Amino acid sequence: MSLKSKVTGLILAGGRGTRMGRVDKGLQPFRGSTLVAHVLARLAPQVSSLAVNANRNLPQYQAVAGESPVLPDYLDGFAGPLAGLQVGLQFCPTALLLTVPCDSPFFPLDMAERLHAAMEAESADLAMAVTMERDPEQPDAAPFRQPHPVFSLVKTSVLPQLEAYLDTGARRMEGFYKSLRVAEVLFDDSAAFGNINTLEDLQQHERAAATAPAPAPVPARAHDSDPTALAVGEARRLICARVTPVEATEKLSLLNALDRVLAEDIISPINVPAYDNSAMDGYALRGADLPAEGASATFKTIGIAYAGHPFTQAPQAGECVRIMTGAAIPPGCDSVLPQELATSIDGDQITIAHNAIRAGANLRRAGEDLRAGGIAIAQGKLLRPADLGLVASLGIGEVTVRRKLKVAFFSTGDELRSLGEPLEDGCVYDSNRYTLFGMLQRLGCDVIDMGVVRDDPQALEAALRMAAKQADAIITSGGVSEGAADYTRDIMALLGDVAFWKLAMRPGRPLAFGKVQTAQDSAWLFGLPGNPVAVMVSFYLFARPALLRMMGTDSTLPTMQARATQAIRKRPGRTEYQRGIVSTAEDGTPQVRLTGAQGSGILSSMTEANCIVVLHHDQAGVAAGQMVDVMLFDGLV
Ligand code: AMP
Ligand code: MG
Repeated sequence: MSLKSKVTGLILAGGRGTRMGRVDKGLQPFRGSTLVAHVLARLAPQVSSLAVNANRNLPQYQAVAGESPVLPDYLDGFAGPLAGLQVGLQFCPTALLLTVPCDSPFFPLDMAERLHAAMEAESADLAMAVTMERDPEQPDAAPFRQPHPVFSLVKTSVLPQLEAYLDTGARRMEGFYKSLRVAEVLFDDSAAFGNINTLEDLQQHERAAATAPAPAPVPARAHDSDPTALAVGEARRLICARVTPVEATEKLSLLNALDRVLAEDIISPINVPAYDNSAMDGYALRGADLPAEGASATFKTIGIAYAGHPFTQAPQAGECVRIMTGAAIPPGCDSVLPQELATSIDGDQITIAHNAIRAGANLRRAGEDLRAGGIAIAQGKLLRPADLGLVASLGIGEVTVRRKLKVAFFSTGDELRSLGEPLEDGCVYDSNRYTLFGMLQRLGCDVIDMGVVRDDPQALEAALRMAAKQADAIITSGGVSEGAADYTRDIMALLGDVAFWKLAMRPGRPLAFGKVQTAQDSAWLFGLPGNPVAVMVSFYLFARPALLRMMGTDSTLPTMQARATQAIRKRPGRTEYQRGIVSTAEDGTPQVRLTGAQGSGILSSMTEANCIVVLHHDQAGVAAGQMVDVMLFDGLV
């Protein structure tokens, strides 16, 4: 594996640019383009994927980043380079992340390689560039070692450590680096790490450039098979890392709590069952009285124990009690003989052979289901019918659940017509709003249907503002693909920190995700693609897990394996989701065939299908008879 394929590049452009008069440093004009474009051009050949960390002017950064994501800080208030490192690590689809600041367009082209060699040699978590410098005020003094913490190669696995460090409120790079194994790599050319801090620096460099030949520009997109497309799992991880559960809770009677998310652990106030009871209809007796090897024993029945009507007298040696399922075990007894295992029953006399039962058999012990004081159901559980039953079995009639999530959704597109409107030439009925309605309703969200929004900047802005006011999350369809009207993307980016991703998947390549923020309100935005199948697939893969997390619970997409009844064509390098029909083969094992056409606009393929065949990122075509992963619609669609 080449080093490049293991490294993601992160350009740190999230600073305030205080020393430059608060201008956005990365976007300053420099040698015919911008600083950040130069940095990107130097970084691209060293890495397999890229991201830019920026907190302002996101559309402008996006224009430079192309298909690579622009990631705003997760922390508030321009918290510095560690905040950028945090989102970079959250995004990072590879094992290593190489960071560079947006204002240093001269760093060495072999930086990743040299940092990596030291990281390996020293088994370090992080390798950082250092140079030897002299104090210009004291040219005769000894040179000193100048670390460059923002030029570093770091293992993606340090993210939990970084988050723990940030949780303490600390923000300094040096402090964080103290908790890591750091390798320092000495570079000779200290000018390579010079950054452009002031407008004078910038002008000086521009003047120097006018006299010196400019370095040959490296194309920003020096990639082969589009390694900047984000893998599905990474996009999901990144999204889920940002959203948090709603805090408000409410108390509901048990019958109203179905499909809600439990906000507090249910502690069992009692043992369940509350008392030892019989698992069978039969005879309760003392295990010590059971016959010895080769013998049999006869017992006298002294009474009957019914469920709800205990028999409270303790049998003596050679006595037993007729007992029904669920009845409390009479005092002194510890075993139940199922009635069909008696050798003979003659009036109140029953005879038992040796070996009919073991002592202790056929009892349900007090507390064997739940112990008093133990957690019966942990918070975060989405309450299903079995859970309601379990809570009821504890005698609890009310539960505390998280409040419902409010989700606003609308469709975008001039070609869309709502039901009841005539369908003019070139128009289509808006179907996405109905699939989204259904999917959100199934998740148990409070839905806010905002209709169709025209491809018009003002209308879109107004809709997003209105949605942010009312909802926790906004789901839109259409307008996020590259061909779409640019202002859709611009408006989304303008109203918040929204990143536009190109995903390595089909269907559902474009996706916008981020926070829409107005003066008073904010909401998470999921900008799904417009094609009707793509909208559903991307909802399930990205919006659903995030919404469930916001609801306070986890999600798993139920998958199983089935034998493909046909060959399926697929090329490695992206995940494909094809519509399939699972059935049971003659030998009783699951098999799957594809529904016909798989175009991302063909909604009938979704209604016909009962599953999605998942063809993983690195997987190539599948031969007939091979096993494939499928995601069942049951419980999902
Ligand atoms: P877009 O992502 O906006 O370029 O849309 C991609 C394709 O999906 C176009 O063919 C749209 O007409 C179609 N499309 C977008 N939104 C909807 C919708 N709400 N219902 C049905 N088709 C849609
Ligand atoms: Mg459109």
